[in-house]
Amino acid sequence: MHRSRSQQVVVALVLSAAFLAADLCATESLRVADSLSVGFATTDITPRWDGERPVYLAGYMPGRRAEGVHDPLAARGIVFRHRERKLAFVSVDLIGLQMETVDRIRKELKDYDHVTVASTHNHSGPDVIGIWGKSFLRRGVDDEYLRKVVRSVVECVRLAEQKLEQVRGRFGTATDEKLLHDSRLPIVTDPTIRVLEFTRVSDGAPAGLLVQWSCHPESLRSSNRQLTADFPAAVVATLEKRRRCPVVYFSGAVGGLMAPPHQLQVGDRALQRGTWEFCRAYGERVAELALQAVRQASPLSLTPLRFCAERILVPVRNPWYRAARLTGVVRRKSYAWTGDPLERGRPMKLLHATRIGAIESEVGYWQLGELGLALIPGELYPELLEGKIDSPAEADYPDAPREPSIKQTLPTRQWMLAGLANDEIGYLIPARQWDARPPFAYGKRTSQYGEINSCGPDSARIVLESLARCTDSVTKAVLAKQ
Ligand SMILES: [Zn+2]
Repeated sequence: MHRSRSQQVVVALVLSAAFLAADLCATESLRVADSLSVGFATTDITPRWDGERPVYLAGYMPGRRAEGVHDPLAARGIVFRHRERKLAFVSVDLIGLQMETVDRIRKELKDYDHVTVASTHNHSGPDVIGIWGKSFLRRGVDDEYLRKVVRSVVECVRLAEQKLEQVRGRFGTATDEKLLHDSRLPIVTDPTIRVLEFTRVSDGAPAGLLVQWSCHPESLRSSNRQLTADFPAAVVATLEKRRRCPVVYFSGAVGGLMAPPHQLQVGDRALQRGTWEFCRAYGERVAELALQAVRQASPLSLTPLRFCAERILVPVRNPWYRAARLTGVVRRKSYAWTGDPLERGRPMKLLHATRIGAIESEVGYWQLGELGLALIPGELYPELLEGKIDSPAEADYPDAPREPSIKQTLPTRQWMLAGLANDEIGYLIPARQWDARPPFAYGKRTSQYGEINSCGPDSARIVLESLARCTDSVTKAVLAKQ
């Protein structure tokens, strides 16, 4: 049975009813009563490791069995409350939690208007997708561990809610191109760290930080066999110590492919990527950049809280992804592809896994007063932030329509972007840069890495057009109220 478009699209759009009255509140006491409250919490999601029951590390290639725990993995969350509205944002030290798991988390948090769970894209955490088991044909996910993640994320939100306190916000950015390495041409990175700082209304003390940086947590390379949160652990530890407040770190546009540089100069020593020393030093360097952003931050209004989330269908054109479903390595519902990202087709049986089906995912947009937050369910190429898309003639679709850029789409001057938010559907590559067939662009003899981990050349467009509908819905609803 096909459902109608109106049934399919889940668009939740929110405006505080008395929003316009806010400006009329003349006294400071009334303003305080109307201010935003936030609460932070952290819970542990380190898998149980005893040396006997295998834990397979996600990322790179299958068969990376963990040999110990170097440092704990965490779920770090923040809850926002303004009047009757409640939003929760949790960042997890995992490669990419799937939509189905996020839906299970949301079932336990039905009193929230929207819950976002974003993954840092950690390449030294347990497999939560399936493709990194003992071999290409063996599922690497421990379902008991996934249940623990669901419980811990829910607990994180509940604990954060108990710590709600009234805050003011400041937003700042800082840039350092030397802290990123782009291994795929063209060279386009997003070397800007974006930091939202909260201070308590009661005494002006730091209440917490939200930090967005766009880099694969791959400072340890593929030879690592220890469970670790990678460099984000050092970012968080450094900032919590220096600012004496909780920190939620999350990843932005990490596609295309954003990784730490091969080496880092610390004093007269050149630390090499792939070592624990490098991992810590790189995290500390990113934390220093975040502190620079805090020093440059300016106050901004963070209310009212608005959001929009849209369910979309994304066709899986990638034969490897389809094979992973056929072998049971990845367990994910698939629907007949209707050609319309807003229309869900019939559920596809496993027998039909070789045909092109579509997976259901979600794109979202939060607008916290003057700050926009894009929620992107995969690894966005940074080219798509400002539309710096290359069109090499040798690529497969040099005349494909350009995707709407993030900058063009977001209505706010200040913004953040959460990649791998609520899902991980792979790389979101500009169609004009899709280059899987010879001849290859930039004089390459083989295809550059990327397409093999993407649903298809149209997935970026589907996601970004959905984001544009979300921002439009929020903007139009605001205008309608004025
Ligand atoms: Zn990746």
